[in-house]
Amino acid sequence: RGKLSGPGAIVVERRADAAPAADAGRPDQNLRRALERDELELHYQPIFRAADGTLAGFESLLRWRHPERGLMSPGSFITLAEETGLIGDIGRYVLFEAARQLAAWQGRKGIGSDEPLFVSVNVSSLQLLGRGLVTDVRDALRRHALEPGTLKLELTESQVLTDPHGAARLLEEIRNLGAGLALDDFGTGYASLATLKRLPFDTVKIDRSFVAGLAKGEDSARAIVRAVVDLAHDLNLAVVAEGAEDAESARMLRDYGCDYVQGYAVGRPVPAHEAERFLTADPRRALA
Ligand code: C2E
Ligand code: MG
Ligand code: MG
Ligand code: MG
Repeated sequence: RGKLSGPGAIVVERRADAAPAADAGRPDQNLRRALERDELELHYQPIFRAADGTLAGFESLLRWRHPERGLMSPGSFITLAEETGLIGDIGRYVLFEAARQLAAWQGRKGIGSDEPLFVSVNVSSLQLLGRGLVTDVRDALRRHALEPGTLKLELTESQVLTDPHGAARLLEEIRNLGAGLALDDFGTGYASLATLKRLPFDTVKIDRSFVAGLAKGEDSARAIVRAVVDLAHDLNLAVVAEGAEDAESARMLRDYGCDYVQGYAVGRPVPAHEAERFLTADPRRALA
């Protein structure tokens, strides 16, 4: 299950925290209904420039506002969406909703920096099959006339390594349309930065396990963060550190040359209307 055969096969890994399949009898029906009833929503976590603490953009993170179970995180339903094929419709919803929200925010004046705000969107492996993603990205960018590079797709190493050549072509196309590309959770898979060089990413996100290691004073985490930053910069890639949970880690990440910092220490994922406070916040507070 979750395994598509044939050339360019992509293996969908089962998440350890996925909900048991027996849940509520027919969870696929529930998830489809959730989409139809607008129970899915995007939350936004701010990403700050390490150098001056100004807001650079947001990562969009999917939530299911379940009528009985409350707010649910994607770990509990993305696998189900992939296994039932609903991920196509859900992924499209996420892409267009994030693009719409980004356009609304970019249209506002005086939001702190001269650089246009970005929003990143997480993409499922299954969205990389077929032509749908390219078409949807093109439509989303055109519909909202977004600034080049400000709508970013986040993909993980395993997603692009299972089919490096097919993936490379697809990513080139998406990049040429004017979307940004970030490699998510970097360091948890097997991608080397040499592989990275062949793929059109503009950003690398250091996985939060290394960032957590910094807080614990692990020398290895410090060495890895510094090495990734240096190599990424040699390859002209921007570096985001994700999962900074305390102010000290955030400062270390800045000192080690990370360009952007994301994490609970500087801002949690919140609904769009709450995220607006980050647009107008005093940058000196973010990474003080
Ligand atoms: P991710 O893309 O690596 O997203 C970062 C995750 O780390 C998010 O979990 C975020 O809430 C969490 N996080 C951020 N800062 C901190 C921190 O300081 N400490 C800790 N402990 N965690 C932090 P979330 O929202 O539960 O999402 C989990 C994963 O679900 C994401 O990992 C991504 O792979 C997937 N996901 C989220 N939204 C979507 C979506 O719209 N589509 C798809 N296909 N996958 C999604
Ligand atoms: Mg992500
Ligand atoms: Mg990540
Ligand atoms: Mg992750």
